Amino acid sequence: MATINLNFGRLCNCYLFSEVSRRLKVFTEQHPHCELHRLDRSQNTQPLPPSVVRTLHETTARMSQAGCFGDYGHYQGEAFLREAIARCYRDRGIGLDLDEIFVNDGAKSDIGSIQSIFGPKDVVAVQDPTFAAYVDTNVMAGRAESHNAVTCQYAGISYMPCHERNDFFPEPPREKVDLIYLCCPNNPTGATATREQLEQFVRYANALGAIIIYDAGYAAFVSDPSLPKSIYEIEGAEQCAIEINSLSNSAAFTSLRLGWTIVPKALSLEDASAGQLNALWHRRQSAMFNGPSIIAQYCAAQALSPAGRVECQSIVDNTLENARIIREGLESAGILCYGGVNSPYVWTKAPDGMTSMNFFSKLLAEANVVSLPGAGFGPNGEGYVRLSAFECRESIRIAMSNIHAKMAA
Ligand code: PLP
Repeated sequence: MATINLNFGRLCNCYLFSEVSRRLKVFTEQHPHCELHRLDRSQNTQPLPPSVVRTLHETTARMSQAGCFGDYGHYQGEAFLREAIARCYRDRGIGLDLDEIFVNDGAKSDIGSIQSIFGPKDVVAVQDPTFAAYVDTNVMAGRAESHNAVTCQYAGISYMPCHERNDFFPEPPREKVDLIYLCCPNNPTGATATREQLEQFVRYANALGAIIIYDAGYAAFVSDPSLPKSIYEIEGAEQCAIEINSLSNSAAFTSLRLGWTIVPKALSLEDASAGQLNALWHRRQSAMFNGPSIIAQYCAAQALSPAGRVECQSIVDNTLENARIIREGLESAGILCYGGVNSPYVWTKAPDGMTSMNFFSKLLAEANVVSLPGAGFGPNGEGYVRLSAFECRESIRIAMSNIHAKMAA
C-alpha cells in the first residue's frame, strides 16, 4: 500500500494570504468600478529588454529548422551561458569555475531542492520575516516538528528576528545550526546586509561547520556600492556558502524563467571533503533536471551581455525610482517606512499599533491600494505591510496621492 509523506501534514496553510484574497474579492465585488493600485506584486511587470526580445525571435526561428536544438542540453546549463554568468561575477572580483555554476529555471526550484543534499536532521535557521519557501521545503523534508498556531512558528526551526532594533537584519543564531537561509535584500523587509553583517555569518558558518544558502534574487537592486551584491565578496564565503540567483526581477524573466545556483568546490563539511557537495548537487541535477529551455538560456546570455546589462539596469533603475516615489509618498503622509532604497520592497509600519491585516484593509478601502500584510511572512512581520515597486509609475503616483489625501496625519 502506498502511503503519503506525512511531513506535508505539518505544513501550515497560511490563512493570512487566503484571507487577503477573500477580502480583495469581496471589495472588488462591492466596488466593481474602483481602480485598484496593485502594490502587492512580487514580480517585475516591465517588458523584456529589447535585445532579449530580438534573441527570443531569432532563437525561435532557428528552432523551426530541422536539426537545430533537437537534443537535450547540458544538465548544468549551456557553457556559453555559464561563461556569461562567470563574467558577471568576475567583474565583481569573484572567480568561478564553470562547473561551480548550475543554471536553473528560476531560483525557486533550487531554493526548494538544495536542502536535499544535506542531512535530514540538519537544523535550519531563517530570517523572520522572510520568503516562505525556505521553511516550507524543509518542513516537507522532515526538518521541522509541529506548527504552533500562537507563535506561527515550527518547533525545530531556528528563527532569526528582523526588527527595527537591528535594522531588519539579524545576528547569527546563538545556538548551533547547520543550514542558514539568508535573503539579501530580504523579501519582504527590503533590508540588505552590510559587509560586516555578512562577515559575521561567514565567520559563524566556518567556525561551526554550517552552510549558508544565500538567496541573491534581488541583488541587482543593491545600488549602494559599499554593500555586497554577492556573498562571495566576503572572504571565506566560498568555503561555507551556496548562492542562488535569478533573472526574474532584474531582467523581467518572471515568466521566461531562468536563474542559477553556485556550489563552490571549496565547500566542505565534517563529513564531506572539498568538491563533494558540488559533486552531490551535480548528481542530483543529473537525476532530476534536464536544464532550462534553450530559448531561455540564449535570452539569459543576451541579458547578461554588456549591452543586455545596460538594458536590465534601466529596468532596475525604473523600479528603484518607483520605490523612491512610494517611500517619499508614505513619508509625506506621516507613515513610517523602511527598505525601498536597495530593494523593490518598502516595509511600511502600520500606524497607531494596527495589525498588518487591519492596515491592509484600511489601505484597500480608503486608498484603493493593495498591499501584503507583513504577518504572512513571519511573526516579526506583524504590524507592517509590504508595498512593492513592481507596478506602473502612473498607478504608483495615484496610489500615493490617495494615501496622502485619506491618511495624512
Ligand atoms: N526568492 C525570493 C526571495 C523571491 O521573492 C522569489 C519570488 O518572489 C523567488 C526567490 C523566486 O524567484 P524565481 O522567479 O527566480 O523562481
